[in-house]
Amino acid sequence: MNGRRLLKRRKKTLGNMSKPEECIRGSLVIMSRFCGKPNCRCLRGQKHKAVYLSQSYRGKTRMIYIPQAQVKKAAGHIKSYRKVKGVLNILSDINIKLLTGK
Ligand SMILES: [Zn+2]
Repeated sequence: MNGRRLLKRRKKTLGNMSKPEECIRGSLVIMSRFCGKPNCRCLRGQKHKAVYLSQSYRGKTRMIYIPQAQVKKAAGHIKSYRKVKGVLNILSDINIKLLTGK
C-alpha cells in the first residue's frame, strides 16, 4: 500500500474512534457480600450483590464499587476503551508502514 493510501486509511481509522474521552479500563464483576449488620438476610444465605469495576492498577487488581445507577454507563465506557485501544493498534501498524515503507 502506498503512502497516500495509508494516510487515507489512517484518517478513516481515526474516524472510527468515537468519543475516546468516554473510556474506562477494566471489566465489571458482580460480587456477593455480607454487609455486617446483625440479623440481616445476607446471614441467611441471601448475600448482597453489587457491581464492581475490576482493574489492574500499579501491579495489583483493585475493585471499585459502581453504584447501580451507573452500571450501564460504566459498561459503555469499558466498551469504548476497548474500541479506542483497537483503533490505536491499527494506527500503530499504519504508522510503522508509513515509517518503514513496509
Ligand atoms: Zn446484609
